[in-house]
Amino acid sequence: MGIQERYRGIQEELAQECVRAGRNPSEVTLIAVSKTVGPEEVGLAMQAGARDFGENRPDELMCKAAVHPQATWHFIGNIQSRRIHDIVPHAALIHSLFHENHARKIDEVARLEGKVQDVLLEVNVSGEQSKGGVALQDAPELLSLCVALPNVRVRGLMTMAPQGDLNVAREVFEGLAALKAQLRETLEPQAAAAFDGLSMGMSEDWREAVAAGATMVRIGRAVFSDAFTD
Ligand SMILES: *Cc1c(COP(=O)(O)O)cnc(C)c1O
Repeated sequence: MGIQERYRGIQEELAQECVRAGRNPSEVTLIAVSKTVGPEEVGLAMQAGARDFGENRPDELMCKAAVHPQATWHFIGNIQSRRIHDIVPHAALIHSLFHENHARKIDEVARLEGKVQDVLLEVNVSGEQSKGGVALQDAPELLSLCVALPNVRVRGLMTMAPQGDLNVAREVFEGLAALKAQLRETLEPQAAAAFDGLSMGMSEDWREAVAAGATMVRIGRAVFSDAFTD
């Protein structure tokens, strides 16, 4: 199977999982994580209908977004302050914001770019030391700081589940969905309306994420690697 067949296969299965979860397939965006491949493979996926792509490095984001400006680019990686000016011009959505100082810098760079930057707050639901993200108990404070920034719009939450146990993954995803609902209550109507996204689920655990309410799944290997099977 090639990239196009794999992309179409996942898109089809995603629609089935939505129906199974009592959801409308149009509620969930498949983000093809292209971090391990080049612009050529991105082009192949686009021919199969892919529009949304995820990158975790600023250099790769800049390069692939330059080749494929008509695609929608998501930044899903570790944010470094000195690279924010390389990320903001190209990213439709930044998924991995969890530091106050990065939020302020994104606001400043977005203002200079003349844009309002859509972001998700990354939450460390599992509490694993190795994972990025704001701790559950610190999420309300980070959210209120971010919604006060004029050139940042908080579109929801993102998380990564621990690998290996799908039951644990499902609990983590349900935890993120519950946190979103809870935080949304605290927002003014306009901010609450924008705060509707849940980015969760990867190649191995996206089905659990869809069942728990994901609005975006980030899938890399299952689209781009012939070695991936599950
Ligand atoms: C690499 C990556 C993905 C995709 O992972 P796969 O297991 O290849 O599907 C999703 N989210 C983030 C943040 C990543 O870094």
